[in-house]
Amino acid sequence: MKQIAILGATGSIGASALDVIARHPDRFRASVLSAHRNADALAELCFRHRPDIAIIADAERKDSLARALDERGVRCQIEAGHDALTAAVSSDACDTVIAAIVGAAGLESTLASAASGKRLLLANKEAVVMAGPLLRRALTAGGGELIPIDSEHNALFQCLPSQHGDLKAMGVRRLLLTASGGPFRGMSREQLADVTPDQACAHPNWAMGRKISVDSATLMNKGLEVIEAYVLFNAPIDAIEVVVHPQSLIHSLVEYIDGSHLAQLGHPDMRTALAHALAWPDRTEAGVGSLDLVAIGQLDFEAPDSDTFRCLPLAWQALRAGGDAATILNAANEVAVEAFLQGQLPFLAIAEVIDETLNRLDVQPVIDIGGIVQRDLTARKAAQSIMQNRFA
Ligand code: NAD
Ligand code: MG
Repeated sequence: MKQIAILGATGSIGASALDVIARHPDRFRASVLSAHRNADALAELCFRHRPDIAIIADAERKDSLARALDERGVRCQIEAGHDALTAAVSSDACDTVIAAIVGAAGLESTLASAASGKRLLLANKEAVVMAGPLLRRALTAGGGELIPIDSEHNALFQCLPSQHGDLKAMGVRRLLLTASGGPFRGMSREQLADVTPDQACAHPNWAMGRKISVDSATLMNKGLEVIEAYVLFNAPIDAIEVVVHPQSLIHSLVEYIDGSHLAQLGHPDMRTALAHALAWPDRTEAGVGSLDLVAIGQLDFEAPDSDTFRCLPLAWQALRAGGDAATILNAANEVAVEAFLQGQLPFLAIAEVIDETLNRLDVQPVIDIGGIVQRDLTARKAAQSIMQNRFA
């Protein structure tokens, strides 16, 4: 029986993970569940899935969680705070961790999971982008295995012959990341001037949390994923490409030097990646049906519109700059996206804030987690001040 910790259990990935786990009570069990501040939602999940440990990251909500569990007659160990997350993933409470917290808030627990030597199912892409070299170091030191949950990277993982080693030695020529293009594909900058958070979050193919939905609308999600592919597969920058594929049925492709292109296809449903990663190297039922290729009829492809959606070239720029430029990019993006979601920043200004933050701060080497946390804070402050000066 696999004992699974789900960090970010109340989110969209958390719900998909619990759905897959509940289909296999003989193989998988959710032993640790965490949420940010919603004690009721977490207690409800604990009622249904009976974990050993429930963790509320906002320590002030610990009493609310205790009350909510009590009301439902659920008995389990109650923990609070981010330290409780790192303690749980490092303990024998679990042998598998699903890192599904959104944003930089997941950094410490994702790195602790990587260092723990367990199986890490990684959805928290912001941690990869912020601290790629540290994640690689933690994985090597811990000796555990990482299986990507982000659908594109999960697809690449499935299309590669081995999880370790040099892409060139495996005969890989390119990693082709597909992008849906988001809800605003084909629109002009004039049309994007007044778009609202709800419009940005209405993704044509995927149902996701609001932050990643906005990232998909700006194409920053694909930018973060380019950096994620660079880190996870140790890929040369020039071997990574992005192609827009509006149907989101091909999740990504690996091209080999003999001209073969291996792709992974499936419905846009995160349960496929989660079931794959939970059962790997076996396969297991995910609750996802077959593709009706005849009904689908055709698959379309186009180049990304980098003039309109400037976040994508900004991510490439940060990747090429190296050092902690990706940390700065991620922090500025999180701040700008949150301001957009609060109705305080126009959609097109998200890219402007990131661009200016990258220009304002020098690139420094990535040394340790303390340094990354500090740079994340510095970049957040810079982005805030740019927003106040320009868009208040
Ligand atoms: P979501 O907003 O639906 O859920 C986020 C989860 O993180 C919630 O459980 C929330 O309680 C928790 N959380 C938020 N802030 C926190 C904090 N400060 N401290 C502790 N916990 C906190 O997000 P999601 O769509 O499930 O995405 C989660 C991660 O997975 C993101 O990094 C996202 O980029 C990645 N991802 C998501 C999808 C998808 O389909 N949803 C696909 C690929 C990758
Ligand atoms: Mg993705």
